[in-house]
Amino acid sequence: MRYISTRGEAPALGFEDVLLTGLATDGGLYVPESLPHFSLEEIRSWRGLPYAELAYKVMYPFVEDAIPADDFRKMLDETYSVFSHQAVAPLVQLDTNEWVMELFRGPTLAFKDFALQLLGRLLDYVLEKRNQHVVIMGATSGDTGSAAIEGCRRCEHVDIFILHPHQRVSEVQRRQMTTVQGDNIHNIAVKGNFDDCQRMVKESFGNQSFLGGKTQLAAVNSINWARIMAQIVYYFQASLALGGPDRSMAFSVPTGNFGDIFAGYLAKKMGLPISQLVIATNRNDILHRFMSGNKYEQHQLEHTLSPSMDIMVSSNFERLLFDLHGRDGAAVKTLLENAAKGPVSIEDYRWKHARKLFDSDAVDDKTTCDTIRDVYEQNEYLLDPHTAIGVRAARNCRRDSAVPMITLGTAHPAKFPDAIAESGLSVKPQLPAHMADLFEREERYTVLDNNVSEVQGFIAKHWKNA
Ligand SMILES: *Cc1c(COP(=O)(O)O)cnc(C)c1O
Repeated sequence: MRYISTRGEAPALGFEDVLLTGLATDGGLYVPESLPHFSLEEIRSWRGLPYAELAYKVMYPFVEDAIPADDFRKMLDETYSVFSHQAVAPLVQLDTNEWVMELFRGPTLAFKDFALQLLGRLLDYVLEKRNQHVVIMGATSGDTGSAAIEGCRRCEHVDIFILHPHQRVSEVQRRQMTTVQGDNIHNIAVKGNFDDCQRMVKESFGNQSFLGGKTQLAAVNSINWARIMAQIVYYFQASLALGGPDRSMAFSVPTGNFGDIFAGYLAKKMGLPISQLVIATNRNDILHRFMSGNKYEQHQLEHTLSPSMDIMVSSNFERLLFDLHGRDGAAVKTLLENAAKGPVSIEDYRWKHARKLFDSDAVDDKTTCDTIRDVYEQNEYLLDPHTAIGVRAARNCRRDSAVPMITLGTAHPAKFPDAIAESGLSVKPQLPAHMADLFEREERYTVLDNNVSEVQGFIAKHWKNA
């Protein structure tokens, strides 16, 4: 399988190179040149498979040029055995034909573990084969950093540097990053905000000379194709558990950077019967505004009770725009260059096509809290604020009550106790047993000034081969 850039100019790459690259050299994102397609008969034959085996069936076509089947199977077995539920992604019923898929049974209690546990193993496998070492540099406002650190902690060929805004992430989130011990793990608290962190990462990818030309930077954010790939699997898993592929399913997806829901769109293109995909956003609703009025326009960042969805632009939306434009990279390049300067629209028939593919809704903090409270009162089931947004959007946008509606449960409620408290519930979400001592564990991080050369100097000095 070859991968091509959404901006049409960078060279096509194989899986290994795509794994190790951030943005394409033309500024675009890599997507598969073509998708595998599975017949209903084939999908039906996967009923009852353990999660790791299903993951193999769905993902192998994407990696087969780079990894022998047995090695990939072994990697998947290891990846999904660290989850704390036998079903890996269990379904919980909220109401007749209404479900939450719990994607927070991994080590850091958010769905990002599904992809990052695999990504760490993929990186180490490919780097071992190539006898190469990479430095991962990433910025986080919370969930991505901890999942990436957990995913890479045992990698021998990777040093990981995660920048977070000093004193601006929640204590649970900070401790999930800073209490992981390992020589190759480096947490940097930047005296600035998340945008400052992200800017430094971008600048460093643009000019990597501070590493002395000896190594390269790799990306762990959702511009990395391997992350999207790993997220396709659980759409198949949920469908098969509820009578698919012989009935279609609806999914509601709490969305920030459009990675998770893009994976659902791909599952559908690969043959899974999905009749509805709901984009659920918080007040940072650029996607909902686009879907409602064909205007793609950046607004100011709003801080909400669902911080993992606090974004101004959705990086993976570019991958959808590429398809909406008949895979015309030049058109996407022009559109996104214009979008950086001001509001843009797309041709009406393309926008109408997007509206056929997706419904959307934006949910404010008050409605998020109301939903947490309603669902708790109905079922004694506690939603985290991101999942609550998904449930609310599912209920608002639902088209056919005969079709199972599945909301992706993206985080464990104990990660976001503030939102639970604000919803007026007196119940306190408990951390699962394996994390119960989080607040006693020793932390390790370095506070640095909001200054890119200071951060780069720190990395140059501390990566293993330096
Ligand atoms: C990252 C994250 C999201 C948003 O996912 P995208 O793939 O960026 O759309 C939603 N909820 C939680 C808890 C997250 O960590």
